[in-house]
Amino acid sequence: QEALLDVTGLKVHFPIRKGVLQRVAGHVRAVDGVSLRLAPGKTLALVGESGCGKTTAGKAILQLIKADEGSVKLSGTELTQLTARQLRPLRAAMQMVFQDPFASLNPRMRVGAIVAEGMRALQKQDNHEQRVGELLQQVGLAPEMADRYPHEFSGGQRQRIAIARALAVNPQLLICDEPTSALDVSVQAQILNLLKELQATLGLAYLFITHNIAVVDYLAQEVAVMYLGRIVERGTTDEVLRAPKHPYTQALIVAVPRITMEREGDKQVPVAPGDIPSPAKPPSGCHFHPRCPQAMEVCRSAYPAATTLSPTRVVHCHLYG
Ligand code: SF4
Repeated sequence: QEALLDVTGLKVHFPIRKGVLQRVAGHVRAVDGVSLRLAPGKTLALVGESGCGKTTAGKAILQLIKADEGSVKLSGTELTQLTARQLRPLRAAMQMVFQDPFASLNPRMRVGAIVAEGMRALQKQDNHEQRVGELLQQVGLAPEMADRYPHEFSGGQRQRIAIARALAVNPQLLICDEPTSALDVSVQAQILNLLKELQATLGLAYLFITHNIAVVDYLAQEVAVMYLGRIVERGTTDEVLRAPKHPYTQALIVAVPRITMEREGDKQVPVAPGDIPSPAKPPSGCHFHPRCPQAMEVCRSAYPAATTLSPTRVVHCHLYG
């Protein structure tokens, strides 16, 4: 199947500035050569602990931040070389749903105006009011709610509003950045169910950014595991979750927070011994070696090349290949 989204060798390096002169003293390699493909109507989960670069990767794919290197193709169109003006009509095809539904909605705007915002920018629809009503219904809210303000809604309802806003421009791809992790557990499940229903009815593709393996299991057909700016293992959800190969993936799965657990269970806890190293100074060789229970001599000096384990499965680890 042809890819809706095809990302190759994506790099985002932020300069670290020091002193009064703000001289560049180094770079944080937030995203360091990420490649992924997503078919229309499917879900790919991008998984890792906080600080692994997954949100930055999402923003660079959406062209909200500029990548230093690499290619991002949407339905075959290369996005990284386009001007802001050329990008504008393509923006509708990709929308983002953010983690915090409290911060992502303008408190001074009525819900109807928030949902219609994107449509207005694209000058797409004449009859905004009717379309806003339909969108609110589609996400499980009453059309009359268009007249209210965000503070009158709960976290889960706000996330529904944010989803309606994203859907308003008929996207093909939603990049969902931990869209349920700020919500209570019972509400999380409702939002995940809503996303699943919308995918089935609208044929949406999701790039789902999360640290929660249980959410991956529920939603995604494919998984890419990210550690310090790089993808260390990818494959189908079944392959990766039932038989993880990379020691980091194994550690993530052992630390699995279950959807059904209490809120405390969803906190981000370190999954392997030791702290996550800074992406400004990633360890030599395999970045995971200081925390890896199976590290060998070679792991300290050489970054492991990709080993293909099946047509859908790739791992970067010296234990294989
Ligand atoms: Fe562990 Fe070595 Fe594999 Fe890295 S390459 S995950 S250190 S065994």
